[in-house]
Amino acid sequence: MGSLSASRCPACGRLATPPEPYGCEGCGAPAGTLESTELVAAGSVRATAMVHRHHKPDPATPFTVVEVVLDGGGPALKGVLAPGLDPPAIGERVSGAVLDGRLIWEREG
Ligand SMILES: [Zn+2]
Repeated sequence: MGSLSASRCPACGRLATPPEPYGCEGCGAPAGTLESTELVAAGSVRATAMVHRHHKPDPATPFTVVEVVLDGGGPALKGVLAPGLDPPAIGERVSGAVLDGRLIWEREG
């Protein structure tokens, strides 16, 4: 299970990953006031979508985009389901890792 670099705004509590480089997009707090933190890349599936046509050759189609609500009230993040897996059910537990700059989800356990 991977971790994700993130920023937390002390003024409004907004969590963002990757960290917001120019300040809080929620309330406008300056970047220098944001706290660095790490998010555990695990949560439950909120939505899935199978992609059959894509403007880039990678990832190869078809692939599944998975939106996951991170544990602990973290943000919802979209990533790609690991190749060869059937789409997870809504609410199913998944964990993620960043590989080559891409967030990849797979079932826990
Ligand atoms: Zn803020």
